[in-house]
Amino acid sequence: MPKSALSAPQFTNEKAAVAFLEASRWPKGVTCPICGADNVTRMGGKTQAGYFQCNDCRDKFTCRTGTVMERSHVPIHKWLLAIHLLSAAKSGMSSHQLSRLLGLSYKTSWFLAHRIREAMIETNPSPLGGGGKSVQTNETYTLRTSKRAKSYKKGHSHKEQIVALIEPQGRMRAVHLKRATSESVRHILVTNVHRNTELHTDESNLYRYVGKEFSGHKTVTHGSSGLGEYVGPDGQTVNAVENFFGNFKRSMRGTYRKCDEQHLQRYVTEFEFRHNNRSGLGVDDQQRAANVLKGIEGKRLTYRRPH
Ligand SMILES: [Zn+2]
Repeated sequence: MPKSALSAPQFTNEKAAVAFLEASRWPKGVTCPICGADNVTRMGGKTQAGYFQCNDCRDKFTCRTGTVMERSHVPIHKWLLAIHLLSAAKSGMSSHQLSRLLGLSYKTSWFLAHRIREAMIETNPSPLGGGGKSVQTNETYTLRTSKRAKSYKKGHSHKEQIVALIEPQGRMRAVHLKRATSESVRHILVTNVHRNTELHTDESNLYRYVGKEFSGHKTVTHGSSGLGEYVGPDGQTVNAVENFFGNFKRSMRGTYRKCDEQHLQRYVTEFEFRHNNRSGLGVDDQQRAANVLKGIEGKRLTYRRPH
């Protein structure tokens, strides 16, 4: 990342940051996040800087109201910097690293990062695939899968599963499942993939019946050769999914180390977001961060504290 990008005024100056966020949130003029009216007045003075008054519902609000930033005391310029860093980091960024870069406590950085992941959730996603397109699907185990881990012992393993759906060279979706079954996998497929799509999977029974609900279903054999890459006779593969899983697992080991199963979906979402907003699809660092900002509204959630 060029240094110039991070020295932009919205990352270093609070006034510039607030102006940047207001312009991003309300490109056509400020509207009240409580009632939607555009009849609003910007308040002045030192104590009310950044506040607006709605002349319809009489409520007061700021650019944080109704977003993941509400009730946070972290300055907006640090939020914007955190969003920029997390959306640009290919392998993610640990809360320890964010904490050092932002000058915030570990706990605060942890909350910030999880709220940013919440903003990365795609609102109203369109289905994957469609006429003439294929979607690769596979599932994997993640979290304590190492046989060396103490928790791996029989009956104590905490393996979790992820199902990923990927259009080759296109978009993707990934979902955390406690355990992949024909029913749970079917639900994910039929709610996320256009029926008029050719499905590419391995020969797992999980896909046998749901495959019939799509315009085509081709399988590849995961042989025991251990080569890792398989191509079927018609060129079908699940290599794009395998690449995603590989990147996700390497990053989880290298960057995040510890991840509770209750938060796994948020990390999966983070990697899905970067995949769907990658430079190969023409999305640069600035645009990627801008796309996170589009998702900050309507996602106020509170989280359990880290241990
Ligand atoms: Zn209002």
